[in-house]
Amino acid sequence: TVPDSNAAHHGYAVGSRSLESIRGDFPILSEKINGRDLVWLDNAATTQRPRQVIDRLVHYYEHENSNVHRGAHELAARSTDAYEDARKKTAGFLGAPSPDNIVFVRGTTEGINLAAQAYVKQYLKPGDEIILTLLEHHANIVPWQLIAEETGAVLRVAPIDKTGQIILSEYTKLFNSRTRFVSATQVSNALGTVAPVAEMIQIAHAHGVRILIDGAQSVSHMPVNVSALDVDLFVFSGHKIFGPTGIGALYAKTDVLEAARPYHGGGNMIADVTFERTLYQPPPAKFEAGTGNIADAVGLGAALDYVSAIGMENIAAWEHTLVQYGMAELAKVPGLHLVGTALNKASVLSFVLDGHETEDVGKYLNTKGIAVRAGHHCAQPVLRSFGLEGTVRPSLAFYNTPEEIDALVRALFELVRR
Ligand code: PLP
Repeated sequence: TVPDSNAAHHGYAVGSRSLESIRGDFPILSEKINGRDLVWLDNAATTQRPRQVIDRLVHYYEHENSNVHRGAHELAARSTDAYEDARKKTAGFLGAPSPDNIVFVRGTTEGINLAAQAYVKQYLKPGDEIILTLLEHHANIVPWQLIAEETGAVLRVAPIDKTGQIILSEYTKLFNSRTRFVSATQVSNALGTVAPVAEMIQIAHAHGVRILIDGAQSVSHMPVNVSALDVDLFVFSGHKIFGPTGIGALYAKTDVLEAARPYHGGGNMIADVTFERTLYQPPPAKFEAGTGNIADAVGLGAALDYVSAIGMENIAAWEHTLVQYGMAELAKVPGLHLVGTALNKASVLSFVLDGHETEDVGKYLNTKGIAVRAGHHCAQPVLRSFGLEGTVRPSLAFYNTPEEIDALVRALFELVRR
């Protein structure tokens, strides 16, 4: 029988909201794919948007649209207020001391490139070292390779154990007098491992080294407080937390933002320009040259309001239930091997299936209306450390249901029995 996963979840709740009413907020979850209810299990690639975010974008374009230059006229005041309000919401969501610590960027990728080019590069000499981990997404590898090539610095990589967890003692051993910076993910997009970032930050600081945390896969699954973590820089993407594409945020401590050079040059980021010299605006404007993604920043603010109203603790608790259930059910499929079995895991249920190419598994699941990613997930080094070129990667968000996991597992049983 075709599982009706949009109806079969009565009784579940995330915090004080029923899962049914939460799912009702996401119009796309009612889509039919190949005649079936959509089962969206590609949340690590991008999440879906609730009506509240979509409506906020429409409201912006219908009632507030202008470039942001407050003094000029009424709509400019509205758009500036909406944009700066989104910055306040982002600061509040991350526990940042001030909205001035939040730079809007296109997403995690741009945030890391900004950090590398505008902040870290100026400190690098030949032979200096940057520590990464084996868990990193290509977005947290390539920007560091680029500045290493330019400066003669070298990358050092913290290893993982067979469950996919960082080996903290090995990480600690990488530090020496040449270590200049650390950049590490909080949650692996390929394995779901939740890295011990609080300890990693403390260890970096004990060696006098600054650290960036890639929050692309963490902020939508667990509470994150940059002040409590004492992290120096933190980045995330709006589209992975139910907000629009093309917008994300870089948090950095004030002294980091002051020490960083401008990233792009242009309008909005200047205080005064002559052909001889330019005086810059203070952060964050110093890093936001040109017309930014105003509407989508506003939409991101609405997404952060949305998840905050449900409560990140509640979201984390529900997803923990789903991940544990998913791991247990998937393990029952004959020939299925889970990749990434760390005790502390979020969202991601990567696996390989004996005798089946990952792409073929993905295509088969699609015929059942089930969307998963199959491939290397932009994290080739970590998959290759498991001897793999790819996995099938279902990834969960708080709107997913146990019935959707059942639909996935049932489809996999059908596939292996064919
Ligand atoms: N870092 C991690 C851990 C990710 O999972 C991703 C996206 O998959 C990125 C960085 C890059 O994010 P974006 O493509 O939104 O810039």
